[in-house]
Amino acid sequence: MSQKIRCANPNCRRLFVPDPRVKTHRYCSRQECRRFRKRHWQSEKMKTDPDYRKNQQESHQCWMEQNRDYYQRYRAKYPQYVIHNRLLQKIRDQKRRDSRDLAKMDSTSLQYFLIPNTSPLLAKKDSIDSLSFPALECTAKEAATHDGKSHPLPRSGP
Ligand SMILES: [Zn+2]
Repeated sequence: MSQKIRCANPNCRRLFVPDPRVKTHRYCSRQECRRFRKRHWQSEKMKTDPDYRKNQQESHQCWMEQNRDYYQRYRAKYPQYVIHNRLLQKIRDQKRRDSRDLAKMDSTSLQYFLIPNTSPLLAKKDSIDSLSFPALECTAKEAATHDGKSHPLPRSGP
């Protein structure tokens, strides 16, 4: 008989039977908990693995360059977001004064985790989340852009 353990997600904590094939099975199979595990893993990785951090920053930078109008459109659509974000920016500025390391991470994808959590306005959290980590896809697109044969963004004009 397998021993039940508690899910490591503090919002869940339900008992489940871990899969014996997975050595470090700490989260149950609910989608919410799988997401929690992924976020937790990513945030730990960002803190502890400089290569991963660099890679994520480059991916994010690459994504930003290919989607320059994304945030413009987003802001136009949600004017409250701009006000809200201005407040958050003040907080971030304060944190930046407190810690140079944190500021480094703030200026990249991590800020998109922090913003949505505080506002129901930004229910699109998950979509932003997944868009921040298109590492492989982004590299492929970048390569396609550089050879000049294809363009990653559909253009309406000539
Ligand atoms: Zn769980």
